[in-house]
Amino acid sequence: MKDTLRNYFSSQNIEYYAVLPYSACREINPGIMQREDFTPKSVIVYLLPYYTGETVNLSRYAASLDYHIALRECADGLISALRTVSPDIRAKGYGDHSPISEVSAALIAGLGAIGDNGLILNEKYGSYVFIGDVVTDIPPELLGAIEPREVMTCHHCGACKRACPTGILRAEGQDCLSAITQRKGDLTEEEKGIMREYNTAWGCDLCQSVCPYNRDPAITPIDFFHRERISELTRDLLDSMDKSSFMRRAFAWRGRKTVERNLDILSDK
Ligand code: SF4
Ligand code: SF4
Repeated sequence: MKDTLRNYFSSQNIEYYAVLPYSACREINPGIMQREDFTPKSVIVYLLPYYTGETVNLSRYAASLDYHIALRECADGLISALRTVSPDIRAKGYGDHSPISEVSAALIAGLGAIGDNGLILNEKYGSYVFIGDVVTDIPPELLGAIEPREVMTCHHCGACKRACPTGILRAEGQDCLSAITQRKGDLTEEEKGIMREYNTAWGCDLCQSVCPYNRDPAITPIDFFHRERISELTRDLLDSMDKSSFMRRAFAWRGRKTVERNLDILSDK
């Protein structure tokens, strides 16, 4: 099983992964596992590094196709590979909505440190990584579980807090700009003003861009994040997307109207 795991991740160009006992992870959504019909014994946690180049008016994470697709494909492929060795195993892949804290699992697995911006900081790819996990009923020792450890630390340099335009990282009580762009409905004039000032139609990378861990991140070797990439979201581009191509984008989850509203705000200077 250990070889299967190693070979699978190697075939996907995924370098950062680890196995933890489920009991070592911080369970944050116990209801998820209660709905599954197996007892979780191990967690395979891994990082998918994403696009780190420049974008014009959207977060780097949203430049590529929706990362949930990449996480799902990776988990499905991994589970299939494990079933070639042991057909009866039970396993389920997650990304963003897991029974455990994925950031905490990546931290105790030694895949990175927790930054003061709340993100995982990896030594090679900085914070430009997505965290995925597969929960299984396989005893962790069969997969090569590691002893939980912590290997790096955030420099606590304060750059992310100083760069944050809404002050949320300084506990000044405003919503994160990324959350503002993803909120449905009307925005306040102040929120619209911040979006225009920082020219964002989707997301905010400011607390990542200034982080020393992100000074020279390696280019992702994962092909998914290089396909159909866009650097600028425009009304023409949005209008050219049919329903299925729109739904394959990370900015689709709040609906087309939310993205249209954001572009209208930016064009209303
Ligand atoms: S900018 Fe500095 S304080 Fe913020 S996460 Fe990066 S290293 Fe930590
Ligand atoms: S994403 Fe932007 S607004 Fe949100 S915490 Fe980071 S710098 Fe602040």
